[in-house]
Amino acid sequence: MTPRRALVLFSGGQDSTTCLAWALERYPYVETIGFDYNQRHDIELECRLTVRSQIYAQFPHWGGRLGEDHMIDLSLLGQLSDTALTQEREIEMTSTGLPNTFVPGRNLLFFNFAAAIAYRRGLNVLVGGMCETDYSGYPDCRDNTLRSLQVSLSLGLDTPMAIETPLMWLDKAQTWELSATLGGEAFNDLIVEYTHTCYLGERSKRQEWGYGCGHCPACALRARGYKAWRSRNSSSGFEATDRMDL
Ligand code: ZN
Repeated sequence: MTPRRALVLFSGGQDSTTCLAWALERYPYVETIGFDYNQRHDIELECRLTVRSQIYAQFPHWGGRLGEDHMIDLSLLGQLSDTALTQEREIEMTSTGLPNTFVPGRNLLFFNFAAAIAYRRGLNVLVGGMCETDYSGYPDCRDNTLRSLQVSLSLGLDTPMAIETPLMWLDKAQTWELSATLGGEAFNDLIVEYTHTCYLGERSKRQEWGYGCGHCPACALRARGYKAWRSRNSSSGFEATDRMDL
């Protein structure tokens, strides 16, 4: 059986960093891919390199499996979309029921480009941090969308191309729990210190859960999840009961 080799869609945020650890724990060889689409800020793109170097430094057993990084210029996406992620404007809900941070079809494009790189590099698993639980309702993050895409990519490339989304059914507190299970407190400290989630690109304000404005939807989700994870773990009686149930 061919050893499974993974390509992680890695943005430098909490979710994709957790997915990277998940893949490094699971697959013998892992590469990363990032996309530059004229985001309003390029802080995430800087964070992703820092996170990679911190993984090499602090988690050598993972570092030995972590291969190349690919950065794809998708500036075209910035030209096509007119959203709060790519333009200077307030984040708000739109009449479609989606926030104006929605870049139409973004994840579909990401996976198509990732699959092309994976094909060339002999990688056969694509890993993404999409999630249906604590999300903004983006239809291209849904499980059915990605299962359908897995079939299309595998047929279109005429080779099995699996899409794995380890966070799909987790809420943000469970994502913190997963990263702690994978890499312990040290890995969650790395996530707090070096990953970036804030939509506004704010990195001058350090909160207990990391850097960010504290108000945008991405910060609010991250903060709420972190606090819930912390409180679950501080009430040790609860935790012991939970573990016995498992
Ligand atoms: Zn923020």
